[in-house]
Amino acid sequence: MESTLGIRHAAMLLAHRIKIQPTLEQRDYFARAAGAARRVWNWALAEWQRQAAAGGKPNAMALKKQFNRIKYSNPAWLDENGRPWLRTIHRDAHAQPFSNLARAWTRYFEQRRAGRPAHPPAFKKKGRCRDAFYLANDKFRIEGTTAVLPKVGRVALHEALRWPGRILGASISREADHWFLCVQVEVPDAAARLPRSSHGVTGVDLGVSAAATLASGEKIGAPRPLKAALRRLRIRSRRLSRKLDAAKALAGIAGRIPKGTRLPVSNKRIQAAQALARLHARIARVRRDFTHKLTTRLCRENQAVAIEDLNVSGMLANARLSRAISDVGFYEIRRQLLYKAARYGTLIVLADRWYPSSKLCSGCGARNAALALGGRAWTCAGCGAYHDRDVNAAINLQRLATGALAAATALPVASPAATPGTPAGQGPAGGGKVTPARHEHGQQDGSGQEENVAHFCARFC
Ligand SMILES: [Zn+2]
Repeated sequence: MESTLGIRHAAMLLAHRIKIQPTLEQRDYFARAAGAARRVWNWALAEWQRQAAAGGKPNAMALKKQFNRIKYSNPAWLDENGRPWLRTIHRDAHAQPFSNLARAWTRYFEQRRAGRPAHPPAFKKKGRCRDAFYLANDKFRIEGTTAVLPKVGRVALHEALRWPGRILGASISREADHWFLCVQVEVPDAAARLPRSSHGVTGVDLGVSAAATLASGEKIGAPRPLKAALRRLRIRSRRLSRKLDAAKALAGIAGRIPKGTRLPVSNKRIQAAQALARLHARIARVRRDFTHKLTTRLCRENQAVAIEDLNVSGMLANARLSRAISDVGFYEIRRQLLYKAARYGTLIVLADRWYPSSKLCSGCGARNAALALGGRAWTCAGCGAYHDRDVNAAINLQRLATGALAAATALPVASPAATPGTPAGQGPAGGGKVTPARHEHGQQDGSGQEENVAHFCARFC
């Protein structure tokens, strides 16, 4: 898109995450580039903390300048031959952490101001953090199923880029032993829009016993990959920790490992760590597949979908529920629904967190205040109807969706809160209980993980 005016309406920002097939040399470079990004992040964070503690007001630009002055001369950044090893890594990889860090601080203070639980940016530890680095859009190009990258040249892609449009940037990241290229593209609306297969209106109750219950009564069970893999996870974790114990014994360390110690690394320990990482990656893949299929189906088949705007972080604090909830990936389902809604022109209605969708009788509207969290079914004291808890909630949500849709079509008043792609003007429906969702370009996932460049990105992989 050439125009800068109204760019948000003419194009959508989508990210395509493509598996890549690097050679051994390329993998080695990727690992070193990700390591450089991590070390620079840690340097910048330490310096930020030091300046802030000294009463200064650190900022990313000044820190980057400060780093640029030392990065080729400071002994800490020279290799064993006294050469600046950072010269072998493309500069995007070691320039980007500064803006990532500034964004992480901004997010932290925003969350704190909003009274939400927030964690300040943390140091990254090799093997414990996401390995990733950034590429600016003028430093690489994509030719069919090949990407041409700085320093390493041509890399084979598992598929071609799906969309036309302006490439804004990319990141390269590792998941277990696979590498991925995630490309952010500004896709013209005409190419980003997808046709719906039908025009239903539904409510979706996201739950633990069934991942999603639709107003039609259909229950969709999640694959629950974590539960199924939990036994295997325990086995593989145990195998790794035994090898860690052995390494500690070898180094003569009992108890906590002192800061800065490097334990001897055995091949078996590396293998065990890789086996565990592969299992985690598999769990993530199964989960991703499920949430993508569910959210695509909901947006493709419906002109309006209502979901509860769950207080996910609050629920995760409930230890008993937390594993089941994060396994199903509530937050991810909500996030995907929001960006796919823009592509299918579907209205997403977020019911107020306090809307008692489970406690209202979908028949007569009577409120069952006594319904406990564990109660799977109940009989309405008002009309005597017998309700499945989840189906009843989904029907109540469907009613909100119907109301919001009617309000949207009856009152053609422009509303900034409307989902782009739906007919102009979705005002909130009656009762003030619903929020027709914005298409949140700027939304970040709630994991607190540093997403290299994809802070605006609607993951589509
Ligand atoms: Zn009733």
